[in-house]
Amino acid sequence: MTDPLETERPVQERKPRRSFELEETGFNEVPKRFRKFYRRWRGPGDTLGPNEALCPVCKVVIRSVKELRAGDRVYCMPCMSRLELVEEDGMLLAKVIY
Ligand SMILES: [Zn+2]
Repeated sequence: MTDPLETERPVQERKPRRSFELEETGFNEVPKRFRKFYRRWRGPGDTLGPNEALCPVCKVVIRSVKELRAGDRVYCMPCMSRLELVEEDGMLLAKVIY
């Protein structure tokens, strides 16, 4: 298991998810083979791709090879948080699962 996306939304989905090529990001806080799944948040001017989620705990961007949707659960390796994606004001936010 290397992709941070752990559980896809269980309900029927209308559109198939897009797939993404992940490139090396230079993120060095996780072992080399996991690096492409994370990147640093570059601040307020930064934008998240459809396959990205911002970890609210450590402010690292989590990246999946698949498009992310509300209800998905992802794992943040740098801070070991399990997160669930929720939609708020049309934006996808990651919330910690306690
Ligand atoms: Zn984190």
